[in-house]
Amino acid sequence: MNAPPAWTAKVLTIFPEMFPGPLGVSLAGRALESGVWALETVDIRAFARDKHASVDDAPFGGGPGMVMRPDVVDAALAAAEPVVRRIYLTPRGRRLDQALVRELASVPSIALLCGRFEGVDERVLEARAVEQVSLGDFVLSGGEPAAMVLIDACVRLLPGVIGKQDSLAEESFERGLLEYPQYTRPETWDGRTVPETLLSGHHEKIRAWRQAAAERITRERRPDLWARRLDAAKH
Ligand code: SAH
Repeated sequence: MNAPPAWTAKVLTIFPEMFPGPLGVSLAGRALESGVWALETVDIRAFARDKHASVDDAPFGGGPGMVMRPDVVDAALAAAEPVVRRIYLTPRGRRLDQALVRELASVPSIALLCGRFEGVDERVLEARAVEQVSLGDFVLSGGEPAAMVLIDACVRLLPGVIGKQDSLAEESFERGLLEYPQYTRPETWDGRTVPETLLSGHHEKIRAWRQAAAERITRERRPDLWARRLDAAKH
């Protein structure tokens, strides 16, 4: 008997055929196959009430596009129960970051509601206490790619998915820093060599070099992360 999956993602979508898609390949795909995590899709269209199976309607107040109906979305949400967290992917949500990914990977199950058209009727989000999460300040045509990104980020944190758990701790954002640059063979490529310290075999010097590089890159590229780090050091 295999152990039950440590983590389940239930995706509510009008395009269930998009899944597992990229999540069925490589790291996430192998973990899915071996039962570390489970993926369920809920076809929102199956909960439509009329003979045309419509899931959307024109916005009250006018304007372009269509809005997903609260009654249909509610029925789909109910079908996804039980879950620990219910999330609607939307550009108006809390920005996804590694801290939120860690949180979501640490509960047994999450439901992800993928919007299409202009989005979802606000009332069902309020009434069912659906959290709102954004991937960033840009607009996708649907929530499905966002759900895939969120799931991918969670799955790689599940126990046993990445062989060496050490490699997780060093990564960008885990320590409030971007990662240091990486190099591999050949030692000289296109006339470029590898920083000498990394070839020295001197573990303490290598650690110091990487720390300094991570700090410099964070300072240059992400002043927001750097400011937060300086702030945290003060308290
Ligand atoms: N009218 C909405 C955008 C709708 S885009 C607005 O201006 O806020 C259609 C769907 O794509 C959304 O319902 C959402 O589920 C998804 N989506 C678009 N951009 C996203 C983003 N940055 N993060 C997460 N989901 C997004």
